[in-house]
Formats: sequence, C-alpha cells, structure tokens
Amino acid sequence: MTNAAAAPLPSRITVLSGGVGGARFIQGVLRLIERNDATAGTEVTVIANTGDDIWLHGLKVCPDLDTVMYTLGNGIDPERGWGRTDETWHAKEELAAYGVEPTWFGLGDRDLATHLVRTQMLDAGFGLSAVTAALCKRWLEPVHGSRVRLLPMSEDRIETHVAIEDPETGDRKAVHFQEYWIRHQASVPAFSVVPIGAPEAKPGPGVIEAITEADVVIVPPSNPVVSVGTILAVPGVRDAVRATAAPVVGVSGIVGDDHVRGMARQLLGIIGVEVSAAGVAEHYGARNGGDGSGGILDGWLVDTVDAGLVPRIEAAGLAARAVPLMMTDHDATADMAAAALALVGL
Ligand code: GDP
Ligand code: CA
Repeated sequence: MTNAAAAPLPSRITVLSGGVGGARFIQGVLRLIERNDATAGTEVTVIANTGDDIWLHGLKVCPDLDTVMYTLGNGIDPERGWGRTDETWHAKEELAAYGVEPTWFGLGDRDLATHLVRTQMLDAGFGLSAVTAALCKRWLEPVHGSRVRLLPMSEDRIETHVAIEDPETGDRKAVHFQEYWIRHQASVPAFSVVPIGAPEAKPGPGVIEAITEADVVIVPPSNPVVSVGTILAVPGVRDAVRATAAPVVGVSGIVGDDHVRGMARQLLGIIGVEVSAAGVAEHYGARNGGDGSGGILDGWLVDTVDAGLVPRIEAAGLAARAVPLMMTDHDATADMAAAALALVGL
C-alpha cells in the first residue's frame, strides 16, 4: 500500500480493545494515520476492556487499560507484551517473603507506581475514566498529542470469572479470570465464563458517544470472549454498535484454527464457539443478517491461510476478505487496518 493510493481516512475511528492484541492493532492504526496525512486530524478512541481488572494488595490493577497505555506510550516490555520495560520485581519478592497471597500475579516495581496512583485517585473520589485520562497524560500525550483517547468500557466494578475444576481437589469453583489465565495457564477444565457485575454496570463516560458518533468502529483481533465479549456485555454497548451509522469491521485473532497468542482457543471452547475465523465471525454475527441474531459486524478480515472460509463468512451476511493478519511490525499492521477500512468502503 502506497501513500499515493491512500484514500483520506475517516476522522473518528473507534476501536473496542482488549490488551496485547488490541494495543498492537491500534499501533497499526496510528501508523496508517502517519502514512496518510498525519495533519488531517484523524482521532482514535479506544474503548478498553476492564473485565480483567483485579484488586491486589489493596491496589486496583487494570491490565488491559495499562497494556494499551504502555504500548502506545512506548513503555511496554516488547517481549512479554505486557508490563513495563526495564521492570524489576523486588516488591513482588518481598510480598512473597511475607507469604502474602496471591503470589502468581506479575506485579512489577515500575508498574506498581501506576496502580498506586490509580488507587489513590479512586480513593479520592475520581472515576476510573478521569483516573485513566490522568495516567494517559504521562503516556499518550507526549507521543500522540490529543489524537488518542483511552476510555474504560465502564467505571463500575466488573470482574470476569471462570468456573473451573480445581486441579487439587477436583471440586468445581469460580476463580477470577487472572487466576485461570496466569496461575492455571488456561489449562484446567473450565465450564463457563461470567463477567460478574456487567449486567448492573453502566458504560463509562463517552463510551456510547464514541460508538454512535464514530465514522468507523473496528473490532481488533482481541479475544472474542474475555475482551470484546466483555465490552459488549456492558448494557447499552452492543445496542450502540448495532445501531451506529458507522460501518463496523472486525479482524480475526484466530488464524488457522488457533489463536496467535493467549487463550482464545480455550475460551471459545468453553462458550461453545467453533475455533476458526468463520466460527468467530458467525459468533459476532452480521448487523444486517436479517435473522434477528443481533449481530455486530458488517465486515470481517481473515488471514490468507483461511481464505477458504471467505464464502462461508459471506454467506453469514458479512463482507469478507483474506489478507495477511500477522502483526509482525507497525507497517504490516497498518496494512491490516487499511484492508479493514477498505472492506467496508472507507
Ligand atoms: P489480551 O487482553 O492481552 O489477551 O489481548 P487481546 O484480547 O487484545 O488480544 C488477544 C488476541 O490477539 C488473541 O486471541 C490473539 O490470537 C490475537 N493476536 C495476537 N497477536 C496477533 C497477530 O499478530 N495477528 C492476529 N490476527 N491476531 C493476533
Ligand atoms: Ca486482557
């Protein structure tokens, strides 16, 4: 894709993001903006999942908000994909030496400062959106000015839990998603995924407007169950996505019948969705499907290895195309973002 051929970008791009997959995709969107006309004033609003949030040692930890913030602010550890560069783990070691649980969560010393600031601001009465904006002043403004806004999907407490079989006792119990993922490595038998608190929650400030007033809504390759699925579980969000005048286009995080990284395969299995780019497309569904399924998408990009699935996705009422979907660098990811926009006529 060359600059000469580039169409003007839509002015308001809204992305529904989880952590690593969403953040990397947004870097591609930002590269695409740079490659086109960085002066044209395109704005990117990120609505981030907060269902992974957890209270630890008295601190409010928001893994997906922080992954997006650190990634776009060039503070992320590139190898791990989460947490800070040049991280040290002294506080974690000291807590473990006291025998304080949980010991399985990776709480780095630098990262800890973010959670301290966040928790103090929440204690002082600020909402999570204002707190996130304050944290982003350090990370996003110096790099992106006012181009990127990061909005928590909700300010209310929502914590995804997974019903598992306890590997030691064989009993069924519900654990926080972080415990399923980090402590159990998503490798214990699991039966259901529940975003606790979501049914009673309200969308965060600006969330519904960001969807309604967007020129395009993009569903990045984020986890369809515990990232995008949780955002859609906040009352009002799915309806806003279904109703917006903007086209809604998604990018598959499932390539060749498996996730690229993470645990989408396990989670799709738990909710009974076929682990393929077509299975996820049908799970999201077409907005104009006419079958009353309440779908959210107009278009769906799959990887070239899944080109054979395009007719099936089209039969589900979606525009579909196969292009390379490996986010190997910002330019490859920018090409993905451009293909997503082109698929819905932008
Ligand atoms: P998390 O909250 O950190 O798990 O991150 P997300 O939910 O935002 O994204 C996780 C998803 O991104 C996983 O299901 C991966 O399969 C997907 N993913 C990660 N890297 C790539 C990539 O290079 N290409 C594609 N297509 N998907 C990716
Ligand atoms: Ca996450």
